[in-house]
Amino acid sequence: AYSDKYTGIVEDCSCGYETVDSLNEELLHPILQELVTTPFFRYFKAKLWCDCPFWPDDGMCRLRDCSVCECPDNEFPELFKKPFAGLSTDDLICQEGKPEAVVDRTLDSKAFKGWVVIDNPWTNDDETDNDEMTYVNLQLNPERYTGYVGPSARRIWEAVYTENCPRYPSGEICPEKRVLYKLISGLHASISVHIASDFLLDEATNMWGQNLELLHDRVLRYPDRVRNLYFTFLFVLRAVTKAADYLEQAEYSTGNPEDDLKTQSLVRQLVYNPKLQAACPVPFDEAKLWKGESGPELKQLIQKQFRNISALMDCVGCEKCRLWGKLQVLGLGTALQILFSVNGRDHVNQPLQMQRNEVIALVNLLNRLSESIIFVHEMGPSTENIMKSQ
Ligand code: FAD
Repeated sequence: AYSDKYTGIVEDCSCGYETVDSLNEELLHPILQELVTTPFFRYFKAKLWCDCPFWPDDGMCRLRDCSVCECPDNEFPELFKKPFAGLSTDDLICQEGKPEAVVDRTLDSKAFKGWVVIDNPWTNDDETDNDEMTYVNLQLNPERYTGYVGPSARRIWEAVYTENCPRYPSGEICPEKRVLYKLISGLHASISVHIASDFLLDEATNMWGQNLELLHDRVLRYPDRVRNLYFTFLFVLRAVTKAADYLEQAEYSTGNPEDDLKTQSLVRQLVYNPKLQAACPVPFDEAKLWKGESGPELKQLIQKQFRNISALMDCVGCEKCRLWGKLQVLGLGTALQILFSVNGRDHVNQPLQMQRNEVIALVNLLNRLSESIIFVHEMGPSTENIMKSQ
């Protein structure tokens, strides 16, 4: 039975499947769903037109239906804008000729008030490259089915797995490498779950809905993928709670005090949650890693592999997939940075520093994973029964 496969403690973590499901459903999911709609968390800064460093023919959106609708000028928080003067209309580029899809390439240093620009050794993104960056309203661009299939998509996943985190023969790999593999596999499972939960069922009538067969074929049929999804969720949750003090004191101002207070209060509910602390105090114990003699070199190697994965996101040939790919890989890179580069044994004096975009990515990633867990938990048992009876 479905539930027999997911009992006990999530591998390498210290919380059980049932605890994750109930905490997520009752506590975390409702907070996260509200948090990602706040102005601070819904605008993500991204460089969407990028050169793919690996295959020169990829990296541009060729599929019309998957282009991202970027922020129209009027809905963008005032504080993030430069004065309009001096801006030529050439700077506002329309996608597909739709006025509502105007690209806002205007950035303001005030938006980064209180936020430092630092280099995260785990990721490949350069946030200082403002000319190339644009803001995207994530609420208008949900992660879902886009029709991005075929050799381009396959090539990316293949490169991610074979070049950077080879599938491991069980037991033969050090736990640090296993963590990287599981994080990528968990993220991949989550992307597949979102495709299955919001699928274009009928193109002619533009009918969207759930595709349970796809959920089964890509995720449920492989219990490891479900387990990796839970692992990734707990890993990111651990990063968020470890960074609690930093996140609680961070600057969330977007120009509207009411919104900003709400954001701050939701962040506090997320990071200092007594129920969470009681039920799952340390979702993942990072202190167990990097202990061996080769710890430092191993960390550098894995950092390099993860940076390669981050760079591969520039080769995703569908713009919306690239947006969410970049966001979620940045979120994972931020979690890795929090857990492995700061306040560890060898970096006792290094204070935690995060960029604004990294905080946005981290929280939106946790929300996506939380949504995937809800969907798998809700639909998993019945989907398996349906598939068995066919
Ligand atoms: P794929 O999902 O492409 O998988 C390729 C191979 O990887 C599989 O054959 C299997 O061997 C292995 N594999 C699959 N899942 C896992 C796992 N969880 N763990 C370990 N190994 C696994 N499409 C959309 O419609 N919407 C999106 O938002 C979207 N975002 C994407 C983001 C990125 C970064 C990438 C690279 C692709 C994205 N795609 C998206 C495409 C989508 O992920 C699939 O590649 C596509 O739907 C084709 O699926 P597939 O059945 O060929 O298997």
